[in-house]
Amino acid sequence: MRSAYLESQKSQQGRKLMACLPIFYPKPVLTALNICAAEVWGPPGPPRSAEAGRIQTYVCPIVRNALAFLAGRSAELADGLLCPHTCDSIQGLASVLPDFGGWAKPVIHFIHPRGPRRASTLAYLNQEIRGFVKNLEAFAGQSLDPNRLRWALELHRQIDTLAAKLLARRAYLDVDDFTLYTTLRKGEYLWPEDFFEELKRMDARLSDTVVQKGLPLLLSGIVPEPMSLLKNLDDAGAYVAADDYAAIGRRILPHADPPPSDPFAALVETYFAAPPCSTRASSIDGRREHLSRLAAARGVKGVIFHPIKFCEPELFDIPLLKRRLAELNIPVLVLESGLESELSGQTVTRLEAFVEMASNHGSQA
Ligand code: SF4
Repeated sequence: MRSAYLESQKSQQGRKLMACLPIFYPKPVLTALNICAAEVWGPPGPPRSAEAGRIQTYVCPIVRNALAFLAGRSAELADGLLCPHTCDSIQGLASVLPDFGGWAKPVIHFIHPRGPRRASTLAYLNQEIRGFVKNLEAFAGQSLDPNRLRWALELHRQIDTLAAKLLARRAYLDVDDFTLYTTLRKGEYLWPEDFFEELKRMDARLSDTVVQKGLPLLLSGIVPEPMSLLKNLDDAGAYVAADDYAAIGRRILPHADPPPSDPFAALVETYFAAPPCSTRASSIDGRREHLSRLAAARGVKGVIFHPIKFCEPELFDIPLLKRRLAELNIPVLVLESGLESELSGQTVTRLEAFVEMASNHGSQA
């Protein structure tokens, strides 16, 4: 279905197709240049070709599976590859891809500033975005019209506002987590106007009263894979009341209202306003505060850290975040994802035991 949709974006809408590695990139620029983004999160399951074996087994499965996917000619529809410098592993993938993966199409990079908003990072990001635009203009074969960029920024502002509302009012949404996340993750490949329509359909399912009766949990990680985890949580009597996934909640940007009149300034400001993320060198204090606020606002009764195996940026933060949650007396479970297709029976048992323990937590005191 995804391939047929992307094929139609090229053949019927005349758009260029960009395969995008995770996680964060200034997407409104792609939208303004009529480039459809199709993100490559592995994909999950066993690697799609033997080329995964060219990278050490202690590199995260997103990168190994992406090499297997791209080298296995599964992304032939794409006209190019966007490689944000999310972590050392993705940077490494970008350098071995032409040799090991035979990738001969254009590769465009986006290099994040290292550090919080300050004069030097502002100046750097401004320059980086302008260079990024130049490279994308060459790729798209057209110049960026500032009015079209303003239009794209407004569209993405509406998308972010609605996605944030759906997550904030999760308890009032009459759908299970699997259905909600399937919709939210369609933003990984749908043309943004189509994605906005999907979100509006989800918004119509918001109720005036709380409908979620399960144990409210906060989930934090890179990407909710395997998605069956959400069904397992549902079966165990819990739901995701608060989201801190890099693929979901951490990419929902707050926008200034009104936005700066210069669209480049708007791109820079929204970048720095993003929720803190281990892959954008956010401070641990910022992450601690963000998680504490989220947990309090949604009445969270337990936190599941769901990192990808061997993901250094994420794994470095977890011990310090756990300490903060212990101070708040919130039970924590750490569940590593190997990007497998399904959770093992043993992991499902751990999940069930955690939900039961968190449900009783505090009631025995
Ligand atoms: S899971 Fe972690 S190590 Fe792997 S690509 Fe994402 S940020 Fe990099």
